[in-house]
Amino acid sequence: MDNTGICSICEGQYIEYGNNAYPFAGRCCHDCDNRFVIPARIMQISADAQYELAILQQVARLGRTMVQAQAKMRSLQLVKDNTNAEDSAP
Ligand SMILES: [Zn+2]
Repeated sequence: MDNTGICSICEGQYIEYGNNAYPFAGRCCHDCDNRFVIPARIMQISADAQYELAILQQVARLGRTMVQAQAKMRSLQLVKDNTNAEDSAP
């Protein structure tokens, strides 16, 4: 039974089962796992975190805009109510 393979990154030989090279293709040796695959996965996670943060900030901005718009509507309604009250005053 041959438990070796060719690393998909450096094309060197790995023993046993090698490592899943994702986000690279195929399987890789331990050196490439440590040098390329693990850092690439960490970068992917931080990129996702940045994306989520950007979405949350956008949602917060939209929420603030809606609260401000509602407050403006309420104050306009108050002005309108007071104006009508004065008009209808005897
Ligand atoms: Zn390698």
